[in-house]
Amino acid sequence: MNGFIKEYSGWAKISYSEYSNITVIFFCDWLFHKCMMQLASLQYEVKPHSGRALEVREVKCSTVLRRMNFSHVSEYTANFYRGCTHGCVYCYAPSLIHDERRWGYFVDAKANSPQLLRKELGQIHEKEVVFLSSASDPYQPVEARFKITRRCLEALLERDFPVIILTRSPLVLRDTDLLKKFTWLRVGCSISSVSNKFYEPGVVSVSRRIETLRRLHEHGITTWVSMAPVIPQLVLEDVGMLLKKLKKSGVSCVVFGMLRFIGYEESRIMFEQRTNLRSASVMRKEKEVREEIAKLVSSNGLDSYSVLEWSREPTKTLDDFSPISQA
Ligand code: SF4
Repeated sequence: MNGFIKEYSGWAKISYSEYSNITVIFFCDWLFHKCMMQLASLQYEVKPHSGRALEVREVKCSTVLRRMNFSHVSEYTANFYRGCTHGCVYCYAPSLIHDERRWGYFVDAKANSPQLLRKELGQIHEKEVVFLSSASDPYQPVEARFKITRRCLEALLERDFPVIILTRSPLVLRDTDLLKKFTWLRVGCSISSVSNKFYEPGVVSVSRRIETLRRLHEHGITTWVSMAPVIPQLVLEDVGMLLKKLKKSGVSCVVFGMLRFIGYEESRIMFEQRTNLRSASVMRKEKEVREEIAKLVSSNGLDSYSVLEWSREPTKTLDDFSPISQA
């Protein structure tokens, strides 16, 4: 088996910059040839940040779009992956998906998402924003191989749905050609207050994320930043300096959010186990830190949140077509 892996791992490497350490394990010659013919039922072993084996599976899902209703905005969300190999220690997704596998070490790729999404979009009469994604990163490393997000973007573009993307990965740049074609689209990068390998083992550096935003802006794409989570006792960045760099890179707005574990018990336990910190103690002085960051965001001119508000063209009434009303 080992010999077989060695023989083919060089060939099977995914060559997207730093994700090139993804190797494919084929269980036997027979499966290898089957994979080559049908690209089906692959199982990957990914060794990104800790040398620990990751499990990547191809699965089928029964729905893609999920409706989210907030107080002031209504939108859809879609998660093409279940699990996320970025493995952030504060992630709230484990509390949403309740999977017994170790967070950050598994991904289920929902391979039939593009077909299903096309069908679901065809059944929607009134467009709403589609948010990618709420419980996984749509551009986590395996997307370089599966291209599910890309194919779903193609489906969204066919109907020109308004889209908001949020990622921590420069892989989003691969899809610049598609992103530029949307009538309304926003691309955001997440930058937490603990952006380093200890807290976000699979995520690229802040400077690479800023460079990603800069290049998107250069292509005429409106960008934003989700500064979240902010952990009051763990603000490892010079926030003022960071905001200046974001402004210079063409970012239109910065939305920030404090760490929250209320209702996310599994995530709180994971955070405490992996960091050896008590969640209550890192939240001290929350109000002061929140106020300080709000001031900095505003003084850097990055508080234009309307950038993220898509509004539907008002429905035309008969009066709009009447010669009298035009007079
Ligand atoms: S990138 Fe997002 S979804 Fe992925 S582990 Fe980090 S916080 Fe969770």
